[in-house]
Amino acid sequence: QSSYLFNKNEVVYKSPLPDCQFPEDMTIPQYVMKDFGKYGNRTAMVDSGTGRTYTFTQLQELVHQCATGLTIDGFQQGDVCAIQLPNSPEFFITLQAVLSIGGIVSTVNPLYTEDELLNQLKDSSAKSIVTSQASAEGARSAAIKTKIKHVYIIGGADGCKPFSSLLDNDGSSFPKSIDINPKADVALLSYSSGTTGLPKGVMVSHFAFIANLIQMSTPGLVYHTEEDSVLAVLPFFHIYGNLITLNLTLSQGAKCVAMSTFDAEQSLKCIQEHKITSWPIVPPIALFLAKHPVVDCYDVSSLNNILIGAAPLSEDLADAVIKRINRKLIVRQGYGLTENIVTHICYGNDPTKWTLGSSGILIPNTEAKITNTENGSTLGPGETGEICLRGPQQMLGYLGNEKATRDTIDKDKWVHTGDIGYIDEQEQLHVVDRMKELIKYKAYQVAPAELEALLISHPGIKDAGVIGVPHEEAGEVPKAFVVRSNTNILEKEVFDFIEGKCAPYKKLRGGIQFVDEIPKSQSGKILRRILKEAKL
Ligand code: AMP
Repeated sequence: QSSYLFNKNEVVYKSPLPDCQFPEDMTIPQYVMKDFGKYGNRTAMVDSGTGRTYTFTQLQELVHQCATGLTIDGFQQGDVCAIQLPNSPEFFITLQAVLSIGGIVSTVNPLYTEDELLNQLKDSSAKSIVTSQASAEGARSAAIKTKIKHVYIIGGADGCKPFSSLLDNDGSSFPKSIDINPKADVALLSYSSGTTGLPKGVMVSHFAFIANLIQMSTPGLVYHTEEDSVLAVLPFFHIYGNLITLNLTLSQGAKCVAMSTFDAEQSLKCIQEHKITSWPIVPPIALFLAKHPVVDCYDVSSLNNILIGAAPLSEDLADAVIKRINRKLIVRQGYGLTENIVTHICYGNDPTKWTLGSSGILIPNTEAKITNTENGSTLGPGETGEICLRGPQQMLGYLGNEKATRDTIDKDKWVHTGDIGYIDEQEQLHVVDRMKELIKYKAYQVAPAELEALLISHPGIKDAGVIGVPHEEAGEVPKAFVVRSNTNILEKEVFDFIEGKCAPYKKLRGGIQFVDEIPKSQSGKILRRILKEAKL
């Protein structure tokens, strides 16, 4: 049965799965923790580095205390709290505490330099930040230049409040009357550069996040039971790690084993020790699983589900992982973006039913269309164009940037993804290219505009253009084309300059090429295709 519709001369694909119902009056903490009382004293989270464990009951109590502590310190409904933490139980506690009192969480990459953090704190107007000892110094000095009133450090640090001070109360000062509007109120601000420009705050409502949790809980998608253990290596600051690995897992009563940083061998040890059944990963980890000799030294037979997303996965790689680990292993690819969260995933428990390498079918209540990039007309099965999506899980828009919002979400609510793909006769999505500027290094977002702005801030550089070049292990690496000003700046100087200012995954690993001119359109936009095709 076909689920694509010809509607006013448009080809619109609907999900073939039955619609889900979504509560309109619940907040994220109410939804995620609704069964925590029932799960009680079972282990909910394990911090794999320290071995600390938390039961569902403990997590729920700590969330309540943390929310109370924040309120005592003056944090109010509508305020923004930045969380710059590695994967840990404290991430969950802070996230749910802030949301339960009507606050907004802005998640920050723990690898960010002080300047990168400062940009996000300023843009999001954060009032508080919770971070680790490793980032304490940067957070403290960034706080002085922003609206931050409190810097909380896990384990404490000079001149900052220890995170434990937030938990030092009996919960009785928890605010009584908070009126949260789940559809209109922003819950999360994850940063994404979208189709163009600098990273922007993606405003996700309580309703959208809950909708995606419910959509993904459809049997045959990402459905865990209380017997499951999920290994959380994907960073919680990214929407994929936050929604799938952390909140979906706990809302379904499964155990979440959090690893603070990805270490390939440690993760295998963890799988063996905690009998991990489900592992959401990104393609570079799939490559490691398929190729690395150390994989043979561990018993990973407990694994029955691997979910891969956030960057392209080839058919060969999916096949190689299955052959290497266990032929019964279900390797499911999913597709999404911060702006839409998850929209596609391989459905069912029989991998022979889906095409390896495809990103699966539309999840419930979600629609897609593929448009011709020249004239915007919609295309039929097998025809390649821009992927456009619509669903209850999509963002409200970009914070403080109406133009970028309008350029991304059209008047009919379609989100224009900037990804290129086609839908086959079985309604599976195949992502084949990206027309947006975004570079993905090991699934981390690198925004060319950010590197270009930094490059031209160097006195020896007159102009610059950055593109992604293919790389087997990382997917893509950033490469810069640089026009020198009247100096003889060397390649190494340019590389070191960027390395000193950015998180390590943004380094110019694709190299630096000096050119006379950066090709631009009449309106001044960099013609990246020309750079990519090296037609200089
Ligand atoms: P992010 O907002 O960081 O999640 O990045 C979203 C982008 O990652 C998408 O717009 C795609 O370009 C890429 N992406 C995510 N999932 C896939 C996938 N399964 N295949 C290809 N590209 C993907």
